[in-house]
Amino acid sequence: MTEAAECPAQPIVDRAVAPEGLLAWEHQRFGRVTNELGLDPATVCALHCAARSLIVELPLIRDDGSMAVFTGYRVQHSTALGPAKGGTRFRPGVALDDVTALARLMTWKTALHGLPFGGAKGGVDCDPRDLSPRERHEVTRLYTLAILPTIGPDVDVPAPDIGTDEQTMAWMLHAAAEAGHRDPAIVTGKPVLLGGSLFRAASTGVGVAHVAQRAWEHLGGTIAGARVAIEGFGSVGYWAAAELHDRGARIVGVGDITGAIVDPAGIEPAEVRAWITAGNDLVDFPRADVVDGPVLGVDCDIVIPAALEGTLTDEVAARLCARLVVEGANGPTTPAAERVLRERGIPIVPDLMANGGGVISSYFEWAQNHQRMVWTETDERRRVLARLDRTWESLAAEAPVRWRDHALGLAITRITDAMALAGSVVSNHSGIGT
Ligand code: NAD
Repeated sequence: MTEAAECPAQPIVDRAVAPEGLLAWEHQRFGRVTNELGLDPATVCALHCAARSLIVELPLIRDDGSMAVFTGYRVQHSTALGPAKGGTRFRPGVALDDVTALARLMTWKTALHGLPFGGAKGGVDCDPRDLSPRERHEVTRLYTLAILPTIGPDVDVPAPDIGTDEQTMAWMLHAAAEAGHRDPAIVTGKPVLLGGSLFRAASTGVGVAHVAQRAWEHLGGTIAGARVAIEGFGSVGYWAAAELHDRGARIVGVGDITGAIVDPAGIEPAEVRAWITAGNDLVDFPRADVVDGPVLGVDCDIVIPAALEGTLTDEVAARLCARLVVEGANGPTTPAAERVLRERGIPIVPDLMANGGGVISSYFEWAQNHQRMVWTETDERRRVLARLDRTWESLAAEAPVRWRDHALGLAITRITDAMALAGSVVSNHSGIGT
């Protein structure tokens, strides 16, 4: 394994990168892989820099008559393979660095799965739980109007992410339509009634579960009876838990922002979801014990971090009991944790691979909108899982310690080849094949 190397693009990035955080981790991984591919510095620069970074201010008149101004972002990292594509998160502390790193991750992810998209990400630095429904609607409307000149079905297609959902996408769609851009393909993750796909809501989590099963079986395990712990019980974590439960796995621990619960005999995901939907905290769920510390440390076979970036730290990695990590979230494992896990022989299925079901389903939603077609849920599910299988086969041929770098290398090679065909870079990579 090549040691982390300085990213050759570093000197031309026009602002300082904090030494820790998603952007720094992404720099390290990108630098290591582009060095391995033998790319020249100009190509590395062209690959690494975002095509467009937009910062917008959103002045909101609050329900009590006071005024608040929120900052929003949209970063389009690459359009080399097609329109930029990526989620929109409403979360306190959202900042340009994280959004930029997440936009890059989207570029690598769409390329890895062979989708005709580039990468983007957006967000607003706000706490949606502190906003009334009217305020959330208004922030969404203001944000959509502010970024509208730079998005569109063939330019950049937003989707939901942390703190946003299909209601947010419905509001974005409506704001764009009122401004004269009436096309359902302008966002994905919409309600079905407004042109959303029947499988989109479950797609990321079901895909994570499917990839977890493939990886576990690749390592010699059997999914029936496998013990799984999942951090995050939102749209990714819940659907991953429900699907793995349906496939016979035992969900022994789940955690969210309120804490974590464990039951070695198995937790019913649907019961926990009903409990939370009724307005209760996960940590108060009556039919399980409360865990002291992150759920990732509980005794199990497979852990799925599906909450936030950076939750699987080196300290957590040192205490992990599991024999496989499947990244449901984007960027949950820090490079320091990765080193610990490598030394301990615990493989990681990287985010690019594991949570790709969501953007594959978004692609199918976008394609159905373009064709004015509606596929059945069964048909779309089959196609999403088949696409994940295809990508998985190209990863599984590699040693587990190579999974992240190989996935990134495949993605970067495809993008470099597309840029070379377009005449925007000189191709000189020592490629690892498309
Ligand atoms: P979500 O907002 O629906 O759920 C997030 C979950 O994480 C919630 O259960 C929340 O309580 C929990 N959480 C928040 N802070 C936590 C903490 N400190 N410790 C433990 N749990 C915590 O978000 P989501 O859409 O499920 O996204 C989760 C992750 O998956 C993010 O990294 C996102 O970028 C990534 N992802 C999402 C999709 C998608 O389709 N939604 C697709 C690909 C990747």
